[in-house]
Amino acid sequence: MFHISDIKKYSVCPKSFWLSSHGERSPFIAYNHLEEGFSLMIAERLNASGAYIGSRGMDASQSVKLCQEYEWLSKIRFEYKNLRVKIPFMHKVKDGWDIYFLAMSSLSSHDDIQFYADNIWVLKENGFIIHKIYVIRLNGDYLYEDFLNLQDLFTLSEYVNDDPEKGTLIESVFEKMIDLTPILEEMQECYDAKIPISLKNKNCIRKNRCVYYENCFENEQKLPDDSILTLSSSQYKNEMKSQGRERLKDVDLAKLEGTKMQYAQIMADQSEDGLYIDELSLDTWLKSWEYPYSFIDFEWETYVLPPYPGLMPYCKVPFQYSLHIMDESNQVQHKEFLGIHDCREEFILSLIENLPNHGSIVAFNAEGAEKLRLLELAEQFPQYAEKLKEFCDRMVDLSIPFQNGTVYDLRMRGYSSLKVLLPICDPSLTYHDLKIQDGMMAVAAWRKLCEENEDKEEIRKNLLFYCGLDSYSMIVVYNWLIKQLRKEEKNESF
Ligand code: SF4
Repeated sequence: MFHISDIKKYSVCPKSFWLSSHGERSPFIAYNHLEEGFSLMIAERLNASGAYIGSRGMDASQSVKLCQEYEWLSKIRFEYKNLRVKIPFMHKVKDGWDIYFLAMSSLSSHDDIQFYADNIWVLKENGFIIHKIYVIRLNGDYLYEDFLNLQDLFTLSEYVNDDPEKGTLIESVFEKMIDLTPILEEMQECYDAKIPISLKNKNCIRKNRCVYYENCFENEQKLPDDSILTLSSSQYKNEMKSQGRERLKDVDLAKLEGTKMQYAQIMADQSEDGLYIDELSLDTWLKSWEYPYSFIDFEWETYVLPPYPGLMPYCKVPFQYSLHIMDESNQVQHKEFLGIHDCREEFILSLIENLPNHGSIVAFNAEGAEKLRLLELAEQFPQYAEKLKEFCDRMVDLSIPFQNGTVYDLRMRGYSSLKVLLPICDPSLTYHDLKIQDGMMAVAAWRKLCEENEDKEEIRKNLLFYCGLDSYSMIVVYNWLIKQLRKEEKNESF
C-alpha cells in the first residue's frame, strides 16, 4: 500500500521512493515544535469538537461507514487502488462533503493543489461528492496577546491563495485531477524491481542535501579533496568531470561562474599545502576585532504555534548559550546558561551578567542566528533592548572568511560549517563521538529536558558539552587562522 506522499517522492526521484518504501528511512527529528493539541485547536476553530478522529493504522475499509455515522471527521484514512490518503477534516453538508486541508505556508504552490487533487481523486473513487474545498492556514502575522484567539490564529478560505480573483480551490483541484492508476502501476513496478541506479539530479542537493546522498554516491566520499566535484556553486562540475577534468586546477575557465570561492578553491589546489588565504583581507578583518573576544553560541527551539504571550507563529525561543572569553594574553574563561521552558528573561539576564562590557562578540553565522535571536529578544523585552542591540553592534561573524573565499583549505571539500572546520584546525577534535552531534539533536534533547524525565542530569551534561564545544571550536578556528597568517608572513620574509 502506498501513501499519498510516496507519489511526490516517486516523481522527485524513483530511487528516493524505493529506499524510503523499503525501510531505509533516516531518523527524523521535527525541526519545528508542533503542539500535540494542534488538531484539537483546528477542530475548535471549525466548531468540529465532536469529530471522529482517525488514527495511524486504522482500517480504511470502515471509513465510508463511519462517514454515514458522523457529521465531522478528522484524520480519517481512505484507500483506492493501493493508495492510502489521510483527510485532515471533512464535514457532511446538504449537497455532499466539505473538505479541509491544512497549509503551513502563506501561499499554495502548484504542488499543493496537485496534492489536494490526488487526495480528492481517492475520495471521489470512494463515492464521495465534494461540495467545497477549504484551506486552513496559520496566520503568520498573528501576535499572541492575552489568550490564543483561534479565529485569528487560523485563517480559512475556499479560494486559491485566499484570493477570490484566483478562483475557488474546488475548481483548481478538479482541473488538476488525473487518473492516478498509471503512476501507481509504475510505482508498483519500481517497488518490485531491484534498487534503481543513482542518477544525479537537482533534487540530490536541492535546499539541503538529500538524506540518501551518502547511500547513493558513496564513491564521492572517497574522492580526493581536490576533486572537481567539490567546486562550489558550479553547474558544470559534473560535465567537466565527464570530460576528464578530475581536479580543481584542471577546471575549464570558460565554464566557471567566477565566484571568489571558486577562485580560492582553484588557488588552494595550485598551492603546495592545499591552502589559499587572502592575507591582506584576513589580516585587516582580524585586526578590526577588539579585546576581549567573546566567542558565543546559542541554541533555540522553533515553535509553530506561539507558546507564550508576545510571540508569533514560527517564533524562536533561545534556551542555552556557551561563552568562551579570551583576553589579550590568550587566557580563556568559560560561562554558560541552560534553562527550560520559557527561560528567555533568565537567558537575557545571564548574558548581560556574563558578557564583557566591551570587545568583539564572535559567533559563527552570526547574521542569520545569534544576531537575529538578540534582535527578537530586544523586541520581546524592550526593557533590555538597548543592551541587547549594543551586543549586536559588537558582533562579528567567524564564518565570513570561509564563506566568501578569503580562506580555503582543500580539506573543506566545498563546505564551511564549524563541524567541517574543527577537525581541520585541530585533528584531535570532532563532534563524531558526542551524544549530541548537531543542533537538531540538541533541540530534541532539550525537549526531553523540559518533560518529566529521569535522565535529566545526563541530558543536561550532554547539552552543556555540545554547546560548549561549539563556542570552544571558534577559539580553535581563530587560533588556526592566526597560525596560518603567521606562517604566510614567515614565508614572505624569507
Ligand atoms: S541522492 Fe539523488 S539519486 Fe539518491 S535518492 Fe536522493 S535524490 Fe535520488
